[in-house]
Formats: sequence, structure tokens, C-alpha cells
Amino acid sequence: MDLEDTPEQSAYRSQLRGWLEEHRSEAPVLDGPGALKDEDEIVRARRAWQGKLAEGALAGVTWPKEYGGQGLGPIEQVICNQEIARAKVPGILDAIGVGMLAPTIIAHGSEEQKTRYLGPMLHGDEVWCQLFSEPAAGSDLAAVQAKARLQDDGSWRLTGQKVWTTNAHFASYGLLLARTDSDVPKHKGLTMFIVPMDGAGVTVRGLRQISGEAEFNEVFFDDVALDADAVVGGVGSGWGTALTTLMYERVTIGLGGEGMGYNSIRFASAIARDAHARRDPEVRHQLGEIASELLAVRFTGYRTLTALQKGQIPGPEAGLAKVTIVSGATRAGDLIADVLGPDALADDSEWAYMISFLPGLKSAGGTEEILRNTVGERVLGLPAEPRLDKGIPFSELRSKEGAAA
Ligand SMILES: Cc1cc2nc3c(=O)[nH]c(=O)nc-3n(C[C@H](O)[C@H](O)[C@H](O)COP(=O)(O)OP(=O)(O)OC[C@H]3O[C@@H](n4cnc5c(N)ncnc54)[C@H](O)[C@@H]3O)c2cc1C
Repeated sequence: MDLEDTPEQSAYRSQLRGWLEEHRSEAPVLDGPGALKDEDEIVRARRAWQGKLAEGALAGVTWPKEYGGQGLGPIEQVICNQEIARAKVPGILDAIGVGMLAPTIIAHGSEEQKTRYLGPMLHGDEVWCQLFSEPAAGSDLAAVQAKARLQDDGSWRLTGQKVWTTNAHFASYGLLLARTDSDVPKHKGLTMFIVPMDGAGVTVRGLRQISGEAEFNEVFFDDVALDADAVVGGVGSGWGTALTTLMYERVTIGLGGEGMGYNSIRFASAIARDAHARRDPEVRHQLGEIASELLAVRFTGYRTLTALQKGQIPGPEAGLAKVTIVSGATRAGDLIADVLGPDALADDSEWAYMISFLPGLKSAGGTEEILRNTVGERVLGLPAEPRLDKGIPFSELRSKEGAAA
């Protein structure tokens, strides 16, 4: 943010800056000379660094104090992200757990769940993953088919498959959306569970991306036993619980613009190094368009922050920040690739990762089409998409959709 800090915010910023100056030499090196290469070693080092950030009060900034957080607001979270970026050190490893799943557990979980799970998550001792998407349930998340069956003793048995599960290969726990009742409409028969990733019957298989990394996985559940107290937010209330996670996911990606390095000044300086491109009117024109989009996102971000600071929940328009930031940065990546040619993807290029990773980010946290649909319907009041599934029990849906096709 470049709005002026209040005296309190300024003092907070100095406190963080002081801590980072003192400890930055302990941070793992992930880029450039001396960077760690081995994936296991990177995870180990980043977990330890997350523990240090938590000790230094730079993790869980907005969590309540009773669960180890700082009890501060979203503006302090942004200040913390900015100071971490300024110090050029990695942030926390478990951004999904701390940023999205913990707020869900805080909002919907039992006191026992909060006490048991949040502390080890914050310190990086137990990493978490989000087990929502399935091969036939991504945009249409309420169509999940992973099934949990209630046993006579109150425990559950889980069977099914998840996909695109970031960090599952080193996670200790996952928050999983499963169908517990197929005889009611699809949004109603869902329940959220905490699943231990080392449980009998859990199999994790890595998926390698074009960027060379294997960040996400397929996860299979073969009659996995879950205790009765694995349920988060009540049986049949899984959809409402999932919406809390999705809201935090979109806000996290949408507000992460500067932290993720999608910065038009950086893009412009890369292009300016090429004497020909610097003067090319088409390149300059495109760069101007990208810069104005990213500027608009920044102001949308301020609006979201203001809503959060006042204790309000950001509306569906917050999803538009995610769409714009990713499409603006993707256009910038394309432009840089046009200017630099194949060098843009060379191993030592600072742009290679961004260019190959960004197309995937178009899907993460909701695709552009889905987020635009939501804005069209809920912000602009356009007519809703036709829905074939309204009020129909999930168990009857496949045959109805088949008949309509
Ligand atoms: C980097 C990355 C990390 C991820 N991490 C996780 C994770 O940790 N946990 C997790 O659970 N999931 C994760 N995901 C999955 C992500 O949430 C899904 O990719 C996303 O919800 C889209 O679902 P899908 O891939 O099944 O695409 P689909 O839903 O099959 O969509 C395919 C295409 O059809 C379009 N489309 C679908 N429905 C409509 C419609 N009604 N109107 C117009 N267009 C439509 C979509 O916009 C898209 O272009 C991750 C994805 C990525 C890329």
C-alpha cells in the first residue's frame, strides 16, 4: 500500500522491519546464487522459517490472540506482506492453511479443533492442504462425489478422489469437502472434514507442471476411517463452510498483487532494457494498458481492505480483482516473452517461472468465466445462468442431465 500509514501502523512497520533486518540471514535462499535446489530441503527450510516468522509475530497477523495470532486487522497483514517482500525473504510456506483454512476453522470449527490444530499449523509443524476439487467438480464445486458414510458408532468412512491438491505431498492434514447425503439437492448434502494425510487408505500422487515444479497432486481415499469429531461446521453444512474458504482464497489472491511481484514498474524496467522495444509504440501502448489495469486493481484492493477493516465481508466484486490481476500479469508475461524471445524462458531468466506458472493461476481460486458470471449475476443484476439441478436430489442429477443433453 502507498497510502500514508497512521502513527500506529508506522510503529508496527518499524517493528517488523527491525525484526526482519535482525533475522533475514536465517531465511532460506530460493533464487539466485546459493539457492536451495532439492525439493525436500526447500520444504524443510521453509517450514523452519515459517516457525521463526511465527515467533517474530509475522505469521497469523489477523488470527485471534488466543490461537497464537496477533489479533490485528487486514491492513497490518498487508503491511506485514510488504515488509517481507521488501526484505526479499520468503513468506510462510503454508499460505493455504494459515490464510484460508485456519479462518474457516476459526469461523466454523469446535473449540477442541481450534486448540488442537491451529498452533502447530501456524508454526509450520503441521502443513495443511485444501481437498475440494475433483476431476468432475472444479468450477461446479457442489458436484463433489467423494463420499463419507456414517457408521453406527458415529465415525465415518471416506472414499473418493481429489485433484490439484497443492502441498498434499508434505501435508499433515487436509480440509476435505465430501458428500454425506445424495438424496437432497447437491448444495445441501455436503459436509467438511479434517483428514489426517497419513491415515490408512490415503494415497498421494504428484502432478508435474510445465514450470518444472510438482506443487500439486491427485489424492485417493480408499475407505479411510474418520472420527466423529473430524466434522467441521456440522453435518450437511459443508457448502456454507466451503464458501468461507473460497472467500478467503479470492481475497488472498486478489490482494496479493504487490506481494506476488506483479508490478508494472518491474515489467517496464524489463522491457526498457531492450533498446528497440523501449521505443516501439505498440509495446509502449500495451504496457500502458497493463499498468492502468494493475493500478485499477490496486484501488479495488483498497476498497476490499476498507470493507475488511470495518468487519464487513467483501462481496462478489472482490473476485474481479483476482481476474484482473492474473489477466494483467499474464498479458505482461506475454509481452515480455515477445520482447525477449526464447531468452524469456531460459533457466536463469527471472521471468521463466512467472510466464509458465501464470496460466495455471487463471484456474486457481475460481476461473475467470465463473468469477465474471458471479459478478454479472450478483453485482450487475444480469439474468442467472439456467440451472438444471435446482431442487433435484444429487442422486438423480446424472440421469436428468443426460436426458437434457
Ligand atoms: C495452481 C493451482 C492450484 C490449485 N490448488 C488447489 C488446491 O489446493 N485444492 C483444490 O481443491 N483445488 C485446487 N485447484 C483447483 C482449482 O480450484 C480448479 O482448477 C478450479 O476450480 C477450476 O476447476 P477445473 O480445473 O475442474 O475446471 P472446469 O471447472 O472443468 O472448467 C474448465 C473450463 O470451463 C469453464 N467453465 C466451467 N463452467 C462454466 C460455466 N458455468 N460458464 C462458463 N464457463 C465455464 C471454466 O471457466 C474453465 O475455463 C488448483 C488449481 C490450480 C490451477
